[in-house]
Amino acid sequence: MVGAGQLARMTHRAAIDLGVELTVLAGSPQDAAVRAGARPVFGSSARAEDLRELAEGADVLTFDHEQVPPELLSELAAEGLPLRPGPAAKLLAQDKLHARRELEARGFPVPAFTLATSAAQIDDFAREHGWPLVAKAPRGGYDGRGVTVVGTPADALELLEDEPGGMLLEPLLPIERELAVVVARSVDGEARAYPVAESVQYEAMCREILVPAPITEDLAGQAQELALALTDVPGAVGVIAVELFVVDGGLVINELALRPHNSGHFTIEGADTSQFEQHLRGVLGWPLGSTQLTAPAVVMVNVVGPADGSDPRARLPRALAEPGVHVHLYDKAPVPGRKLGHVTVRADDLQTAKDAARRAAAILEGDN
Ligand code: ADP
Repeated sequence: MVGAGQLARMTHRAAIDLGVELTVLAGSPQDAAVRAGARPVFGSSARAEDLRELAEGADVLTFDHEQVPPELLSELAAEGLPLRPGPAAKLLAQDKLHARRELEARGFPVPAFTLATSAAQIDDFAREHGWPLVAKAPRGGYDGRGVTVVGTPADALELLEDEPGGMLLEPLLPIERELAVVVARSVDGEARAYPVAESVQYEAMCREILVPAPITEDLAGQAQELALALTDVPGAVGVIAVELFVVDGGLVINELALRPHNSGHFTIEGADTSQFEQHLRGVLGWPLGSTQLTAPAVVMVNVVGPADGSDPRARLPRALAEPGVHVHLYDKAPVPGRKLGHVTVRADDLQTAKDAARRAAAILEGDN
C-alpha cells in the first residue's frame, strides 16, 4: 500500500485477520501504519524507484491516498506493476477537472464548472453564475485544502497567481446535505454499495457520518445507483467513495476517492464487512462481503487535535466509560486540527447514536 497513514493502519488491521501481509510505503517510522506493525519500505510516493521497491514481490499495489503523480502511475503501469486501482480510474480521484469533464461526458450530474486561466474567463463564468464562486485547485487538495470561496474578481485573480495551470471554478451551491456512498468493486466486476451516509462537514472537513442518511428511500436508492453506475469503469477496484451534494432535492456529484475513505470508517463496527477488509478483497480479486448494517443507526464522529495541542489519549479512559462507544485512535502526534481518531456508536436511532458519539468525541478533544 502506497502511504502509511490511518487508512493504511486500519487496512493493516483487516489484513491481519485475513492473513494478508501488508507492506506500506512510509515517509517515517512514526507513520501511523508503521507504528501499528505494518512492514515498511521507506521512501517517497513521488519517486519511481521507491514505488518499484515497494511493489517487489507483491501481488498487488494499492493506495491509502491520491497523491502519487498520475504520470508516474501510468509509467509504472506500463512497466507491468499490478496497480489496483489502475491509473485511468485513479485519475478520477486525483484531478477534479478531469473528473468533472469525464463524468459530464458520460451524462452524470456534476455542478456547472469551468477551467479559468485568465481574468476574462473568471468574468465570463461570474456573469453567468454570479458571485461568490468556489475555486478549486484541480490537483493535490484534500480536507478542504485547495478549496476557496471567492467573493470578488480580485480574490479570484490572486488565487490564479498560485495556479498557473488554471483553477476549477464552480458556483457556490445551496447544498442541503452532503452524502457519501462507499462502493466496493472486485476484479471480476462484482460491485456492492454500502447504505448511504450523510457527511456533516465543519470548515470543509468531514466531522460526522450518519448512517443511514436521513433522506427518503427513493433518494437513497438513486444515490446508490448513481454511485454504482459512475464507478463502473475499467480498473476501478477496491473501495471507492462517492461524495454527493443534495441540491434542490436532486443529486450532484462532488468527488470520488479510490481508496478507503473517512466516510466509510463506520463500517468497522457498523457493517457486516469493514471497508478495509472490503478494499483488500476487491483489489485481490476475492469475493466481496455483505454491506449490510449491523444496527438500525450508526454514527461516526472524528476526533480532531484540540487547539491546546493536548493528546486525546490522556482522556481515553473517560471516553471508554461511555456505554456503547467504540474508540479508534491513530497513534498520531496531537497537532491541532489534525484527524487523530474517530468514535463509532451503534443504536436503534440516529439521535441516540449521535448524542453518544458526540459526547465521547468531545471528551477526547477535551471540550467536556
Ligand atoms: P476536498 O477534496 O478538499 O475534500 P471538496 O471538493 O470535497 O474538497 O470540497 C470540500 C467541501 O467544500 C465540500 O465537502 C463542501 O462542503 C464544500 N464545497 C465544495 N464545492 C462546493 C460548491 N461548489 N458549493 C458549495 N460548497 C462546496
